[in-house]
Amino acid sequence: MQPLELSAIDLVAAVANGDLTAVECTQAALDRIAALDPGTNAFLHVDQASALAAAEAVDAKRAAGKPLGPLAGLPVGVKDALCTRDMPTTCASKMLEGYQPPYDADTVARLRAADAVIIGKTNMDEFAMGASNENSAFGPVRNPWDATRATGGSSGGSAACVAASMSTVSIGSDTGGSIRQPAGLCGVTGLKPTYGRVSRRGLVAFASSLDQIGPMAHSAADCGLVLETIAGHDPLDSTSLDEMVPSYTQMLEEPLAGIRIGRVPAHFGEGLDPEVAAAVEEGFRVLEAAGATIHDIDLPHAKYGVATYYLIAPSEASSNLARYDGVHYGHRTSEPCRSDAFDSPLVEMYCRSRAEGFGPEVKRRIMLGTYALSAGYYDAYYKRALQVRRLIRQDYLDAFAKVDLIGGPVSATPAFPLGEKTDDPLAMYLLDLYTVTTNLAGVCGISFPCGFTGSGLPIGYQLQAPALAEPLLLRAADRFQRLTEWHRRRPPSA
Ligand code: GLN
Repeated sequence: MQPLELSAIDLVAAVANGDLTAVECTQAALDRIAALDPGTNAFLHVDQASALAAAEAVDAKRAAGKPLGPLAGLPVGVKDALCTRDMPTTCASKMLEGYQPPYDADTVARLRAADAVIIGKTNMDEFAMGASNENSAFGPVRNPWDATRATGGSSGGSAACVAASMSTVSIGSDTGGSIRQPAGLCGVTGLKPTYGRVSRRGLVAFASSLDQIGPMAHSAADCGLVLETIAGHDPLDSTSLDEMVPSYTQMLEEPLAGIRIGRVPAHFGEGLDPEVAAAVEEGFRVLEAAGATIHDIDLPHAKYGVATYYLIAPSEASSNLARYDGVHYGHRTSEPCRSDAFDSPLVEMYCRSRAEGFGPEVKRRIMLGTYALSAGYYDAYYKRALQVRRLIRQDYLDAFAKVDLIGGPVSATPAFPLGEKTDDPLAMYLLDLYTVTTNLAGVCGISFPCGFTGSGLPIGYQLQAPALAEPLLLRAADRFQRLTEWHRRRPPSA
């Protein structure tokens, strides 16, 4: 039995009943990483010894007749934005190079308690700012479907490691699309849960009113399995929701008959690649065949989503990233700080440390955010953006009074060539058109493959659902995957 050809659900069942050992699963993942990752760069850190030790502990538990956790033996790649007490956590930034946190993120702790095996830390855009994974200080991730193309971002490593079956599932984070967009471009399934559904304790903060952790896998059912473990209230994250965690995997059976799915005609306007448009329209037909009905709806303020997001997210980032000053956190310059050009040696040390530690996109966001929050501009930019965010949220509430889910594209194009958009920040920001409104409204969304281009690149379909409607969201995506084979395709290298 080839462990990495199994779904997560089948792999944990095989480990539980003794058909596979956790060590076999872990070794299979480590072997694939050794073979494929030099060409992919999905991982920033892999610790063979500790992964194997964790797997041995799971096998020993089983041998001793003790009950196994629900994810026993499952190889998981974790985005390098989540704290791990035994591995570095860099956020793909020179600012945090070599940083080893003193504690595990809540999600990591829950994974370990469920007997999953953390296989390594995955590459990402620096501090999760980006949509191509080219903002990593440690090099871009290459798309497993075409090594000359980007994976999307910022959870590009988490998408690529699942796409190339270097781990069965992975963990990403999504502030404006960073789980769903790379999932779409890499042909995997990625879930952004409702804001607050998963604790963010130990997730390095980017934009705190938008950030959310979620699973990536080959199927919606596997995403549900992981969500069951990582979701739930955490008294140490005041934004985490104190709501019961349903058994997502057991709620997949109910048919889709009578479910109303909204289609936003404006999503199919200028800029949408014709092959993407055709595959997404076909996606609606699949859901119809599963018993859903399709209804045209409007999200009138969604067109302001990107502008709103690029004021709110950088504003929050400029505040969150203030802690990296070379004293409290992060890289400290080794230059002598004695220049007259600065107010004091201390100010010079802060400035040099931040100038050396942060990459260009992070600096751009800090400047944009600081500007938007500054006295005199606050009302015109930040406050205005919050008001528009309220309107976008209201659009969703109105839409969800008429339909149960909203379907559509996740990205306007398939994976684009590396380097194509790096000189044009605005083009990069516009990639987030279809995803940022989910975060601004605080609802949940999932992206999964709905077809391939003529040249063999995956195309993603996005479904969005009201807050805490993950059971329905996963059920609809699972129905889609029972009727189609797109999610079963693997890249030629894998
Ligand atoms: N592409 C968006 C950005 O650059 C989203 C990032 C994210 O979700 N972390 O901010």
